[in-house]
Amino acid sequence: MALFPIRTFGDPVLRTVAESVDEITSALVRLVDDMFETMYDAPGVGLAAPQIGISKRVFVADVGEGPFVMVNPEIVERSGEWEYDEGCLSVPGKFWEIERPAFIRVRGLDLDGRDIEIEGDELTGRVIQHEMDHLDGMLLLERLPRRVRKEALRELREEALGLRVADG
Ligand code: ZN
Repeated sequence: MALFPIRTFGDPVLRTVAESVDEITSALVRLVDDMFETMYDAPGVGLAAPQIGISKRVFVADVGEGPFVMVNPEIVERSGEWEYDEGCLSVPGKFWEIERPAFIRVRGLDLDGRDIEIEGDELTGRVIQHEMDHLDGMLLLERLPRRVRKEALRELREEALGLRVADG
């Protein structure tokens, strides 16, 4: 197992639509182990492969009810609305109130290549939707109302600039 550095805001891999997984290989199984290790170490409740620089449609999650992994997930049902103070390991230390469907059902593959369905509401539903956005090259910033997003982007750019200046 190995820890990966988590890619952060500004890294182009986070804006790239990830590729479907054609085949469940032992390399993919090892990657998923590393993703879990990286997620727990962060610590976080979900991690998508692009966040460690791998542009593949895989995410892992554990909201405290046990770990799960999904390969090539697709949303098959969503309903309700739920507002939650959402954060992202790729935008560290920032949280925004974001409204998304409360309930979600997704279909995909497990690591044995079997078709599985996972459903969840509130936090589980939220994490699944958040991680699936990563697979589509989308950060939570894109879920913010326009004015809030503009302000958030300005703040993030200023901080990035500040860091570069501090680095010399
Ligand atoms: Zn995230």
